[in-house]
Amino acid sequence: MPSTILIVEDEPAIAELLAINLEFAGHRAVRAIDAEQALAMIQHELPDLILLDWMLPGMPGVRLAEKLRAEERTREIPIIMLTARGDEADKVRGLETGADDYITKPFSPKELIARIKAVMRRRAPQLTDDAISLGGLRLDPATHRLWALQNAEEIALDLGPTEFRLLHFFMTHPERVHSRSHLLDQVWGDHVYVEERTVDVHIRRLRKALEPTGHDALIDTVRGSGYRFSAR
Ligand code: CA
Repeated sequence: MPSTILIVEDEPAIAELLAINLEFAGHRAVRAIDAEQALAMIQHELPDLILLDWMLPGMPGVRLAEKLRAEERTREIPIIMLTARGDEADKVRGLETGADDYITKPFSPKELIARIKAVMRRRAPQLTDDAISLGGLRLDPATHRLWALQNAEEIALDLGPTEFRLLHFFMTHPERVHSRSHLLDQVWGDHVYVEERTVDVHIRRLRKALEPTGHDALIDTVRGSGYRFSAR
């Protein structure tokens, strides 16, 4: 699934250039022209990363970053600030307010994509193609394959696309309880229009797919709270 990147930029030419480069790199680009519009879009759908212009009409970019960091639901969205300033003091302030990285305009498309990749690897490993092994499972996002260890042998298991994303998210965020609403945000990208019981349906399918090798036991139901992937 391509990552959704929200561009918050009031200058149409720059927003367009960013969107073209993001889409060329396989991402999905959505745009807002100011902080208010960005907040409305985030309310509907959580982006996987935000490219945030410092100089915006109305609420400044840094203020929006602070606001997103202060709220539980948006706290973990990776943010890269865009600015025309090369000022060290601004850079420090941007990072202090919660931005993960910083790009100075004019930027090279290559640098932009490389920075996005680095921030995602650090902040949102479920969005990268890095293979991951945990609890006797080995999941490879690049080839969309899953293997389970049984009697020292690796057995290939079949998963549907949603179950695969769900398991990928669990394996990159283990030992934590995730509420249904959080899983909808993180795995479906939508907590408004998808019903919470949808999560239960896919958890059931995921467990069933892991059953042949006994790995369904890795997924705990935490009564009243949600689900947890536990390899302990
Ligand atoms: Ca601007």
